[in-house]
Amino acid sequence: MQKINEYRQVKEYFNIVNGEVSKPKDGKMTNSIDPATGEAWAKIPLSKEADAEQVIQAARGAFEDWSSLPARARGDYLRKIGDMIPQHTTELLTLETRNNGWVLDEYAYLGEVLKQIWYDAAGAASLIGSQGRTVQMGVGNFGFTLRKPYGVVVGILPWNAPLFTFTIKAAYALAAGNTVIIKPSESAAVGSLRYGELLSQILPPGVINVISGSGREIGDYLVGHKEVNKVSLTGSKTTAEMITKATAHMPKSLIFELGGKSPNIVFEDANLDQAVQGVIGGIYTRNAGQICVAGSRVLIQRSIYDEVIARVKQFMTDKEFVKFGDTLNTSTTMGPIANSAQYERVCSYIDDATKDGGEIVFGGRYGGETLLPNEAKYANGYWVEPTLVKVENNEHKLCREEIFGPVAVAIPFDTEEEAIQIANDTNFGLAAGVWTRDVGKAHRLIDKLQAGNVWVNTYGMVGVDLPFGGVKESGYGTDSILEYTYEKACVINIS
Ligand code: NAD
Repeated sequence: MQKINEYRQVKEYFNIVNGEVSKPKDGKMTNSIDPATGEAWAKIPLSKEADAEQVIQAARGAFEDWSSLPARARGDYLRKIGDMIPQHTTELLTLETRNNGWVLDEYAYLGEVLKQIWYDAAGAASLIGSQGRTVQMGVGNFGFTLRKPYGVVVGILPWNAPLFTFTIKAAYALAAGNTVIIKPSESAAVGSLRYGELLSQILPPGVINVISGSGREIGDYLVGHKEVNKVSLTGSKTTAEMITKATAHMPKSLIFELGGKSPNIVFEDANLDQAVQGVIGGIYTRNAGQICVAGSRVLIQRSIYDEVIARVKQFMTDKEFVKFGDTLNTSTTMGPIANSAQYERVCSYIDDATKDGGEIVFGGRYGGETLLPNEAKYANGYWVEPTLVKVENNEHKLCREEIFGPVAVAIPFDTEEEAIQIANDTNFGLAAGVWTRDVGKAHRLIDKLQAGNVWVNTYGMVGVDLPFGGVKESGYGTDSILEYTYEKACVINIS
């Protein structure tokens, strides 16, 4: 706790450019707000186009040397980063918690995950040289392909999981031989700026760069720049649309990891103890529902509809289970919404919950003063009670739009076919959960569900061994080493 307290002081953080900590050219800084209290707790750069130009030139300047290194040597650098992570885990996770309110206890595993990703990327770097193909082209010609890095990659991060998304983008892009610019969200940049500083102490100058600023101000410049070759966004569909427009004059390779409205489907033959925990863990106790794969539409077979809802309610109204409060205290189980704009958005959905036949089963309240009445320092924090809304069908507004908060809907269904139909009746296609003991049914749903990830009798399991992406409006592409290379086709006339 003493170490954690060190990070409670207000500090300034700066961009990382060409291996150095760098102030924005016009010196403009902005406040980073702690969502638990609504107070400023750090200062971050509000960069402009001139700063964006500087990071692009740094990344471009470093590309030739970095991409020319033997792949194994690049892997050695990445392994050193993996070795460094445990020494800085407490610091990085604490900064992240103050950034976006994700409670420290839920983060406990993240340091290990980050380390594993760097080690995985280090191994993948060594293999990239053997990923080409040889092609028999007929008499006189020999064909083969090489995997080559794109050049400069811009990774754009959301506010809900900056360290994780930073790592999956940077580690594999670097492993493939690209140089990288990371643009964290202006509402959660501190952890990324510090992370970039640590990485730049290991990597050659310019190989990793971090620029903090408003996406609306510097986004177009960064992604549309002719020296930028690939863009990977984790964020919203609106931003994906803007990036598509900004790159239209110079089409480039894009990865879009976007939002979801994921179904978590409970059948009457499921192990209900497991399923109830899967429903809760799928949305409420994970970053207060601010996670792209949140199981925000809970589909429950009608015969067990009331029972499952009652069991979920029992946990979520138990004050020992749902403990609001100091996000840096490991006994706190639920944090706030990450920023004021998102807080307003989530509250507006709660206000609309009872329209069109919706019925609030539990929750529905918001505001620091209401949920933490005796703790004055949280009065202006962005607190929202975990909320479940019973709806008659999938047409309700809360079923159609991504809320990105601790608000779920419970939708009844009768048959397997109906469950599949409701599950797929959404513009999104990121994830789906299925709770059943029937292995045949599980396979049929895996086959039919339109989602990039399907979990059976578990929820939200992602790992370095599996791809992670979506279909439909949830985006396309995954942060993997092959995605950060293009395949060059070569032919030699040997006649
Ligand atoms: P957002 O789209 O508002 O912002 C994401 C990033 O884009 C920020 O860094 C922002 O500054 C930047 N940006 C904004 N305008 C830009 C522009 N014109 N050009 C370039 N960059 C620009 O998303 P958010 O609110 O930070 O995050 C929440 C969203 O992210 C949700 O929709 C969530 O589902 C999604 N998300 C998806 C995944 C996934 O892996 N699929 C993971 C986490 C979050």
